Amino acid sequence: MASNRPTKFIFVTGGVVSSIGKGLTCASLGALLEARGLKLTMLKLDPYINVDPGTMSPFQHGEVFVTDDGAETDLDLGHYERFVESRMSRLNNFTSGQVYETVIANERRGDYLGRTVQVIPHITDEIKRRIFLCSKGFDICIVEIGGTVGDIESLPFLEAIRQMRADVNPENAIFLHVTLLPYIAAANEFKTKPTQHSVKELTSFGIVPSIIVCRSEQRLAQSIKTKIGHFCNVREDCVINAVDVSSIYELPLVLHDEGLDDQVVRLLNIWTGSPNLKPWQRIVNSFKNPLKGRVRIAMVGKYIGLPESYKSLTEALHHSGFANGCQIEIVYVDSSAIEKEGVDATLQKAAGDQKIDAILIPGGFGDRGTEGKIEAVRYSRENGVPFLGICLGLQMAVIEYARHKCDLPQAASGEFSPDAECKVIDLMESQKKVSSKGGSMRLGAYPCVLKEGSLVRKLYGTDNISERHRHRFEVNNAYRQALEDAGLSVSGLSPNGELIEIIELPDHPWFVAVQFHPEFKSSPRTPHPLFKGFIAAALNHRDASLAALGDSHEQDCADQSYPQNGVETKNEKTLASEAELA
Ligand code: GLN
Repeated sequence: MASNRPTKFIFVTGGVVSSIGKGLTCASLGALLEARGLKLTMLKLDPYINVDPGTMSPFQHGEVFVTDDGAETDLDLGHYERFVESRMSRLNNFTSGQVYETVIANERRGDYLGRTVQVIPHITDEIKRRIFLCSKGFDICIVEIGGTVGDIESLPFLEAIRQMRADVNPENAIFLHVTLLPYIAAANEFKTKPTQHSVKELTSFGIVPSIIVCRSEQRLAQSIKTKIGHFCNVREDCVINAVDVSSIYELPLVLHDEGLDDQVVRLLNIWTGSPNLKPWQRIVNSFKNPLKGRVRIAMVGKYIGLPESYKSLTEALHHSGFANGCQIEIVYVDSSAIEKEGVDATLQKAAGDQKIDAILIPGGFGDRGTEGKIEAVRYSRENGVPFLGICLGLQMAVIEYARHKCDLPQAASGEFSPDAECKVIDLMESQKKVSSKGGSMRLGAYPCVLKEGSLVRKLYGTDNISERHRHRFEVNNAYRQALEDAGLSVSGLSPNGELIEIIELPDHPWFVAVQFHPEFKSSPRTPHPLFKGFIAAALNHRDASLAALGDSHEQDCADQSYPQNGVETKNEKTLASEAELA
């Protein structure tokens, strides 16, 4: 599309309750518009005062998503990157904290000399400036307002987008409101009243939605759409039903069938052909028909019961399930339980009467449960169970190897044992001077060179890669030789050879650990090579174990439906952030 045309804005608000999937609705709409050939970007506005979510515990906020340019952002940006081809950067997410920080810095510099600095116009102008900055050069900018309409915190955002529609001319902007229609079993009815009230509230701020997306457990009858249309003053065909789906990747198809993208392009007066939805149909088809049954991946981490904390990771596993023709069952294993009950008993208990096909140790902070994680590494290494370690997972694998293969029983990490003698994991040189916590880790994309003949080189199919990071500690080079002499292969290094990025064990069926976070770059259309290889290895391990038992996996495949929302949890847990330790 020609870039001299004005950018068209879609402002998305949420009503009734939080967590109704506004982010996924935006991401799916983005996918549909891109599939029509439009160049788009997406923006998430977060009403809280933190400058970014990097200092927040995942207990509070779920996963911190990291962009190539090193921004620590809201997890909705992860949804965006999994659904759209357009890449996100630090321009694509901002918080009230950032807005106030800028306005206050302007005030101190004297930019507003003589004037009183106020929410309107100074805060709202800064919000608008940031939205315009992000949208430059794009046909479409989808702007998602965090929180629920009526929250005190998000009022300046609502005021800013209300003004923006007039600023860009009304034909270049629409408001889309996402609500929930609760089902009341006793009355056997979906209730429209909460939607009516939230639209009324939105209207009181001067924002009149043109499209209402209604989340519901079951498909809504036409009569309900008619009713919402009448009471909320929208066209009946602009009441879009986002019915619950078995996998989030079905959502673009569901919303397209409901006419969402047709209505958006009609309202914004954009001409496009019909969208090419083949990639999404292929993805849905592959998860609905997993030819190779199911694999069980034990994710060994801290237990806190918030699945949102590992969002990119669980999704990356599912993408590779699609690519390998199998379903993924994630079995969450509390690493503290391993410390108390031993690794065999804990894994067995977590898997029920089934077997674990591979073990993954995700990123994390703090020492709770780390001895259990180290035990889980030992178990994978000694039993030939496929292993993938990510960030803290790599650090655990290095400690395990040092302790049991290099005769360094005191091997430790400087993160948990700052005074230890044998710190095989230690603070990076650049981190030693860091005094403030916010945005100060090694963040974002860094290049890595892969070793000739290594497993990772084969998986990636290239010798130069770029992956995203979020850590302060690294493998201590003082122990590199000892580790290599004992059989550990350093298969990925920073271009100057200083930082260990990847390790693997050549004499193990599949054992890889990485200092970066590959999960941030996986999408259903482009599953990540490391996860693809990991899941393929899990399948091999499963089949070899079944063959050893003289069994076949057919029985295992029977009567297993795909987990809700693409993620199945047994025990749900998360990594804790640095904030949790404070
Ligand atoms: N806590 C470790 C570090 O800071 C690992 C971080 C992570 O897993 N993201 O280096």
